[in-house]
Amino acid sequence: MPRDSKEEDLISMVYKLVLESGDDGILQSELWKKLNLTSRDGSRIATRLEKRKLIQREKVLEEGRWTYRLKPLVIPLSIESIADAPCITCPLYYKCSEDGEVSPRTCTKIERWVVTEYQRATSASSVSVGEAHEA
Ligand code: SF4
Repeated sequence: MPRDSKEEDLISMVYKLVLESGDDGILQSELWKKLNLTSRDGSRIATRLEKRKLIQREKVLEEGRWTYRLKPLVIPLSIESIADAPCITCPLYYKCSEDGEVSPRTCTKIERWVVTEYQRATSASSVSVGEAHEA
């Protein structure tokens, strides 16, 4: 797997676990253990998510040592709905704006993701309707 896509996968996994931790957040050491990350790699990823205003790092005293608790800044209605969104790991994130040279209006990555998510959502709801008829 190329280095960039491995990094993107890790960013998505870290973000997903922080989202799943809810309002209480999760100690970064717990998170690094779960994902088998070094504290250096984990901190780099957490800093990237913090800069994108997706999480916050709150300094806390835990068993006599200062560490960080990672908390989601925005909790979506459904974690699955955004955990795989390409913008979370996009290297062009800082250049992207509605009227910019890089824009969601022309981005093929976001277009593909929206279409896939829409298809997933509509096929899931048609399964439930079918199941409801069988019941
Ligand atoms: S819309 Fe496209 S270019 Fe912009 S941040 Fe998202 S994935 Fe990147």
